[in-house]
Amino acid sequence: MKRVLSFVTVLLLCLGTAQAQQAKYIFLFIGDGMGINHVYGTELYNASVHPEMPNEGRLSFTRFPIRTFVTNHSASSLVTDSSAAATSLAAGVKTVNGYMGVDAEKRSVKNITELLSERGMKVGVVTNVGVNHATPSAFYSHNESRSNYGNLFEQLLSSEVDFAAGSTVLYKKRDGLLPKDYVEKAKQANMKVLQDPKAAGKVRGKRVLLLSDDLSRKALKYANDCTEGDITLMDYTDAAISYLERESKDGFFLMVEAGHIDYCAHDNDAVTTFEEVNHLSKSVDMALEFYAKHPDETLIIVTADHETGGMNLGYKNYKMNMERLAWQKGSISALTDKMGAMREQGKTSWEDMVALLKSELGFWEHVRLRSKDEQSLRKAFDKSFAQNSDKVVSLYNVNEKLASLAIEILNKRAYIAWISLNHTGMQVPLFIKGAGIEHFYNCYDQTDVPKGIARAAGTELNN
Ligand SMILES: [Zn+2]
Repeated sequence: MKRVLSFVTVLLLCLGTAQAQQAKYIFLFIGDGMGINHVYGTELYNASVHPEMPNEGRLSFTRFPIRTFVTNHSASSLVTDSSAAATSLAAGVKTVNGYMGVDAEKRSVKNITELLSERGMKVGVVTNVGVNHATPSAFYSHNESRSNYGNLFEQLLSSEVDFAAGSTVLYKKRDGLLPKDYVEKAKQANMKVLQDPKAAGKVRGKRVLLLSDDLSRKALKYANDCTEGDITLMDYTDAAISYLERESKDGFFLMVEAGHIDYCAHDNDAVTTFEEVNHLSKSVDMALEFYAKHPDETLIIVTADHETGGMNLGYKNYKMNMERLAWQKGSISALTDKMGAMREQGKTSWEDMVALLKSELGFWEHVRLRSKDEQSLRKAFDKSFAQNSDKVVSLYNVNEKLASLAIEILNKRAYIAWISLNHTGMQVPLFIKGAGIEHFYNCYDQTDVPKGIARAAGTELNN
């Protein structure tokens, strides 16, 4: 009996030790604007449209041991913006929409990167939009406005962030500085500025600022507009992991934002949204490869800040026809550019437009249009394209009205509808795997996420 008891004691001690394993390598992936339907919709889309993908197009993170959802309201509204939500995810504090790294009374709050860097961990902040856009900024700055881009970037330079990547440095005309001027400031702050992700592998002992090869880009190209050789979120994630793995003895924290999901969801463009989620998933695959090498010390979290667009799957007739989305070639922005080029070339006949919609969206040949769809396209063409150029202005893009209508029709032919060009108050998904997972069992609100990260790393985030 004694022997059995001591065996049980040893077993419990072992289990206890295994459970208490601290997370030394921490990944936080944030799909900006990525609601539950953006995630589930991508899996359904992949299963129909990408038969070549393994596991029927399943995303890399949807089978993580923790699969739940969290509330995300801000201190000022039930519908959050990205800066208030990012402040929740970075500092565990609710704040007012538009505030950055400060609480609702505008007091600075400590963020998880400040906390973990004090413990000797290296820190990476990566996004496929501007490096000082709302979500990344919450991990290194404190300001009462998310749009004080110059000040946010100055705070990045003086922060503890070792590796930062984004498409460019966003700027305000009133500050009188352009991205190239901010690049100079980064060099003066002794950061190594790179515009090729592959070059990150050669940097030793220096902080890195990685930007795209075209500083006029407010974001990297959309996933479905990329051609061979274009820089993607995966390239940035890969560069960050190789840098942090090499430069850190005491572990690292890496935040990767798939910021472009929000942009195309603001445009209600389902195909581009799904392809952006696929890029997030492929970036998570890279963290999983790292996890396979350090399974006892790696924690991976995938979540979102808020839902954008109110995407609805199967909005009527008890149907979803995802296969109809297979014919969309690029993003709504690319379609807008093509329509603009037609106008410049004087190709403004209905026949020219039919040829474009056939080749870009598969209309008529692969996607049968109802007569009322065709009539509304023709009407919009006559009104907004042939004579003038009506635009649909969303938060980040200005699109041709006709492009917007055509994408809406295609989405509806797949039985996907959207209820908003803005954010909604829906809860957001949360997926977790790895060391310290027990600190997330009671996550209810997104402010619980950074607190769990701190505990998983063996400390506390007290704001
Ligand atoms: Zn947004």
